[in-house]
Amino acid sequence: MTRFACPTIQKILFLSSICLFTSVQALRAQADSADDPKLTEIYDASLEPKVVTPGAKCGGAPSDAIILFDGKNQDEWVSARDGKTPSDWVISQGLLTVNKHAGSIETKRVFTNYQLHIEWRVPKTITGEGQARGNSGVFMASTGPGDQGYELQVLDCYNNKTYVNGQTAAVYKQSIPLANACLPPGEWQTYDIIWTAPVFHADGSVASPARVTAFHNGVLVQNNFSLQGVTRYRGKPYYQAHGPSPIKLQSHGDKSEPISFRNIWVRPL
Ligand code: MG
Repeated sequence: MTRFACPTIQKILFLSSICLFTSVQALRAQADSADDPKLTEIYDASLEPKVVTPGAKCGGAPSDAIILFDGKNQDEWVSARDGKTPSDWVISQGLLTVNKHAGSIETKRVFTNYQLHIEWRVPKTITGEGQARGNSGVFMASTGPGDQGYELQVLDCYNNKTYVNGQTAAVYKQSIPLANACLPPGEWQTYDIIWTAPVFHADGSVASPARVTAFHNGVLVQNNFSLQGVTRYRGKPYYQAHGPSPIKLQSHGDKSEPISFRNIWVRPL
């Protein structure tokens, strides 16, 4: 070992080695504690997800859902044209069927962000082609009478071609669906939709756009798509500030046989 004549240098070296040893031990302890899986686990009773009982059957509503239609009545709906309640849509054998002469219907309640389940059926006897074949729609937020709002297209596209950004499960004229998951006419089909409403600044400008994720018959068709604004048949979409809004079902003016709905429920998020 090297011997230093000066005792001061010896002292400094001795103290330095102690510091180094202590630092290494501290780093080791830190590394050991970082390996503790508990450090990345959250144990907070106030953050526990609520208990929800899933629906007993496919399409059945979970325990915390708001039932918008269960086959019995139109209590949750009004005419989007004039607020008439009940609307002139037809309930028969547990189904809610579009009345093409009565205009669209919308919920009495208003929503912001939600999960929506809805089932629809195009008649087996459907006729027509392109957009005129079982056309309806789910407006995820109704922003005014008629067809104002943000539409997820309902249409029979089982062996029926139309413009791709207007086919079944398109965010109408904004987003082509990721798949065509249509079943043949006469079969019940499902939409499961997660809607995030747009947020607006006080001056009406967009703070964050609306977003939608949707499954058609269990197949992902819209994946967190950011909307460019409300649905427009002509021209480009745009945003106009609005608050919580009804959900609307479209009565389209095509000449084909009207479609039916059942099992409609929503879970506000
Ligand atoms: Mg439509």
